[in-house]
Amino acid sequence: NEPLLSVDGLRTFIETEREQFPAVDGVSFSVDRGETVCIVGESGSGKSVTCESLTGIVPQPPARITDGQITFDGKRIDGASERELRSIRGDRIAHVFQNPQQALDPVYTVGDQIVEAMTIHGQRSGTSARERAISLLRKVGIPRADDRIDEYPHEFSGGMRQRVAIAIALAADPDLLVADEPTTAVDVTVQAKLIELLRDLTDDDTAILLITHDLRVVASLADSVVVMYGGTIVERGPVDTVFSTPAHPYTQALFDSYDGLSRRNDRSARGELPSDGCRFRAECPYAEPACEGGDQPDFYTLDSDADHSVSCVHFSPDGDPERVLDASTEV
Ligand code: SF4
Ligand code: MG
Repeated sequence: NEPLLSVDGLRTFIETEREQFPAVDGVSFSVDRGETVCIVGESGSGKSVTCESLTGIVPQPPARITDGQITFDGKRIDGASERELRSIRGDRIAHVFQNPQQALDPVYTVGDQIVEAMTIHGQRSGTSARERAISLLRKVGIPRADDRIDEYPHEFSGGMRQRVAIAIALAADPDLLVADEPTTAVDVTVQAKLIELLRDLTDDDTAILLITHDLRVVASLADSVVVMYGGTIVERGPVDTVFSTPAHPYTQALFDSYDGLSRRNDRSARGELPSDGCRFRAECPYAEPACEGGDQPDFYTLDSDADHSVSCVHFSPDGDPERVLDASTEV
């Protein structure tokens, strides 16, 4: 059974006058139909750029996909024309952005935008579309939806605007909903509610790829987790397995100091990351010479039934995984 989405060796370069670096550096993962996959990692780890690369919404330039394959529903979509990508985005892969402004057009009423999304998806416009738009607004928790449907985005508060953006994303009944955690626009409680809303409102065959900082959200929603660090994936697996036996030293650090994520957020304050070998080695308590240079460490499978794998030299066939795993349970 082939996955709905598979990403294989994705590299996305950011190129500005001042700097040039791979924001995403060889990322591979997949999402099955109906599956919820959460991507966790600090700011600048490449989560957003990964998701934006899928449907070509990374700003081009400065961002450029230089390598890798993206396959959606059996079809390569990397290198697809802007026209093809636009039709995929309107219909099969919907995005909910960190900043709802990105999804909302200031000159149209929210009702027009929801109906437009339904129409792209091939549903007919007209009175029934309006009725459906109102019911969608109600579902996402907009009070007085039958009045507010004729208002413009600026007439809504930040949290309500994010709800409207979710309604637009759902209007097309996408196969894959890609949501970048609304960290900036709304407070934490609202955020958690919005994410629950996504789960409630999508049916079982809608897959969700969610970027979040909130490990509680991950625990309650995700089927699988992808942990990113420095533009690479360091660990991936089913949520229960990764939470019960986090293997990569970065994943362990993340779970140990749960607030860690927000405290650690300022990448620039901690200087440049290595651009080869294991990107985490400057901060890793188990680093050794083998962690330097060359490609990112291979992925080793810890549990092949569960499809849990980790990129760390200590999990190689002649490594000593216990050294890393024991330490994590000692605390
Ligand atoms: Fe630490 Fe080396 Fe493993 Fe990276 S590969 S996590 S530096 S031990
Ligand atoms: Mg981001």
